[in-house]
Amino acid sequence: MLKLRPPAKINLVLEVLRKRADGYHDVRTVMQSIDLCDEITIEEHPAAGHLELHTDTMSCPVDEMNLVWQAIHWLRQATGLDAGLAITINKNIPIGGGLGGGSSDAGAVLLALVSQYGLDIGRDDLNRIAARIGSDVSYFLVGGTALATARGEIVNQMPDLPETAFVLANPRLAVDTSRVYASLGLKETKEGLASTRNACAAFLDHPHGPKRWELTKNDLEPAARRLYPRLNEVFAMLLALGAEHPMLSGSGATVFAPVKSLDDGKELVVRLQTAGFWAVACQSINRRQFDLRQVGEVPSSPPV
Ligand code: ATP
Repeated sequence: MLKLRPPAKINLVLEVLRKRADGYHDVRTVMQSIDLCDEITIEEHPAAGHLELHTDTMSCPVDEMNLVWQAIHWLRQATGLDAGLAITINKNIPIGGGLGGGSSDAGAVLLALVSQYGLDIGRDDLNRIAARIGSDVSYFLVGGTALATARGEIVNQMPDLPETAFVLANPRLAVDTSRVYASLGLKETKEGLASTRNACAAFLDHPHGPKRWELTKNDLEPAARRLYPRLNEVFAMLLALGAEHPMLSGSGATVFAPVKSLDDGKELVVRLQTAGFWAVACQSINRRQFDLRQVGEVPSSPPV
């Protein structure tokens, strides 16, 4: 049996550069892994080629709509892997929360199966499978602090940021990412702006010190707040509680803010939960910690 703990991500900076001919948008984004994790167990099933998914969360699909299902489908096509698999996904990362939960689950399962079965597949082919499943999956083959470009599938590792605590909150709704992109005004992308300032580079040049949070931005935030006005309540409450620089992760619905310590974050969480919001305090994780959460083999019976 394999036990995985796929971690969520937040977007510290997210710039929308332009709409492409294929309908997607080119983005440039600084992504950061955090220690909010789903839990996945992978067990072998005796029937070759068999696949079954289980989950503790009603709104999580257990068929081909699940990104884990798609990951296994494409991995089998590429490598001939035919082991029967029974997979359980326990969700802690809110669905449609802009925290990349489904993509992280898929990335973790890809890495785990390649390593467990010694599959003969190079990094480029694995990246191609990841990009086919979704724009964020490639990032979850890397983790830690990274700069992602194109649709998000070209990922460059960056030096780890200093460990930082965050508070995360959302109004318990799932955002439809495609709706947010579709409602972007021209002025909300780099295409519509005279300035060509590279906000990701500005942030990555100053990863230390309190001023760095003034360099964060998310081009999707105004559109998401227009479409889902309840997001404004989360921003307002975080500011009222003294959180500085609250920011939307991805297309939402989760808003995050850096805090001085995990304990400070936990105090805010109690207040946010009392107001009815989903909230957690968490910490950034570096690349080494990310790797440890991806793959963990557990003996099926205790050693004698
Ligand atoms: P995105 O911005 O890519 O939509 P997100 O981080 O906001 O992602 P996810 O939790 O990944 O949100 O869920 C987005 C969609 O993916 C939902 O419609 C959900 O039904 C579907 N989905 C597929 N596989 C999974 C999975 N393993 N866990 C959660 N959601 C999944």
